[in-house]
Amino acid sequence: MVWECQACGYVYNEKAANRQQRLEEKPLNSGGLPVNWKCPVCGVGREFFEEVSGRNS
Ligand SMILES: [Zn+2]
Repeated sequence: MVWECQACGYVYNEKAANRQQRLEEKPLNSGGLPVNWKCPVCGVGREFFEEVSGRNS
């Protein structure tokens, strides 16, 4: 799943992130951004991210 920050356009690729994430902390929700996710570029919360579908999976 790929998510895009509506504030700055940063793209979060869940597949790529999971490899790191698994070692640190599991997301509490399934199939989405971690509950405490913040954009690493502009710092907004997950409510600013929207799922991007129909692009590269
Ligand atoms: Zn952002």
